[in-house]
Amino acid sequence: MNIVIAGAGIGGLTAALSLLRTGHKVQVLEQASELLEVGAGVQLSPNCTRVLFELGLGDEMVARSSEPVSKEVRLWNTGQAWKLFDLGPMCREKYGYPYLTIHRAHLHATLLDAVNRLSPAAITLNAKVASCVTNGEGATVTTADGRSFTGDVVVGADGVHSAIRAQLFGNDKPGFSGLVAWRGLIPMAKLPLHLRDAKGVNWIGPGSHVIHYPLSNDGLVNFVGAVERSDWKVESWHEKGSVDECLRDFANWHADVQTLIRSIATPYKWAMMTREPMASWTTGCITLLGDACHPTLPFLAQGAAMAIEDGFMLARALNEYPGQPAQALQKYEAARKERTSRVVRGSNDNARRFHDHSLASETGAAEYVDREWTPARVVERYDWLFRYNVNEAII
Ligand SMILES: Cc1cc2nc3c(=O)[nH]c(=O)nc-3n(C[C@H](O)[C@H](O)[C@H](O)COP(=O)(O)OP(=O)(O)OC[C@H]3O[C@@H](n4cnc5c(N)ncnc54)[C@H](O)[C@@H]3O)c2cc1C
Repeated sequence: MNIVIAGAGIGGLTAALSLLRTGHKVQVLEQASELLEVGAGVQLSPNCTRVLFELGLGDEMVARSSEPVSKEVRLWNTGQAWKLFDLGPMCREKYGYPYLTIHRAHLHATLLDAVNRLSPAAITLNAKVASCVTNGEGATVTTADGRSFTGDVVVGADGVHSAIRAQLFGNDKPGFSGLVAWRGLIPMAKLPLHLRDAKGVNWIGPGSHVIHYPLSNDGLVNFVGAVERSDWKVESWHEKGSVDECLRDFANWHADVQTLIRSIATPYKWAMMTREPMASWTTGCITLLGDACHPTLPFLAQGAAMAIEDGFMLARALNEYPGQPAQALQKYEAARKERTSRVVRGSNDNARRFHDHSLASETGAAEYVDREWTPARVVERYDWLFRYNVNEAII
């Protein structure tokens, strides 16, 4: 089949690679004039690395990532630590694939190189998709500068502000979560030794939380700090803030958190929006994937993972229903809806969980952590996510 994909982000490139590997022709339209090294850290849980290994990228991904040995929770003021779960070899043993943390640019570049190796002309830059129609036997997109591209299938992988979603399903209605997130990269050499460990650390506090983890073997630590604030409502990956403003948001937090913030070269801030899961995201021969159809808060660390699973499943559906693109797209959507909706809702729940106001006092915090992070509750929250097998999921 001929497949037109709008958006050369994480999900669009995974779909392109999965489709090219199974013999389809792919045209990816990307609005940017060049694909730059943008973004900061993303976490790739074993449900997601399974897909990347399946696509032949396993060794490259491992080489460009960090593999944390565990995740832990720390309390905002005393710094007390509780182990959340083991990763590293335990994760490989339990789920068959590693848990990796990586710079988004390295993940993106790995996917891009793989697509270019299979089809050097697959990606068209400077192609901002403006509209899209389906006639039952295929679909056509038109770019803002008037070019048309027709395929048997069109896939809107154009991210959280998707033009295709807006045109086909109406403008979404994001609600402000009440949270602003800080994001920054820290050269590991600037940090004391105990903050360089290969661990994912989740600081929890009343009304705010902080997550940090090493990103790769090239010596960077990723920092994300979410704080309850209502004076900043811009949802963007490119808005810069200042170290002083970030420090003000975490005043009175443990000295380790202050050290991390002071070591960020350029902090970025984005307002976190919530959206209800869509009832449907397919019409005729057009479908959506990734943030275009199920954007999520990052508190289960599954944004990139869901886009990657989607891309692979889309190719599986088109292969299992050859010559029936509209039916294949319905099957793909049905296979993805429950899981991705559960991620959106579970991420919203974690926002509340990480910020509970009983964390203000030491005794309240100890009781809260003992209740919320028992091994059984941790398994309940994460095991269904990590065990998912894209090859076995029913289409
Ligand atoms: C610049 C940028 C930086 C990011 N940084 C981080 C980060 O640090 N940490 C993190 O966890 N997540 C980050 N993300 C988000 C993360 O990549 C996504 O949440 C996740 O990977 C889902 O992937 P996706 O393919 O659905 O969307 P994305 O990876 O966001 O890709 C969407 C792509 O579509 C393109 N596009 C948008 N509109 C159009 C259009 N009309 N026509 C053609 N192309 C279009 C965009 O330029 C982009 O390349 C970032 C996203 C972007 C775009």
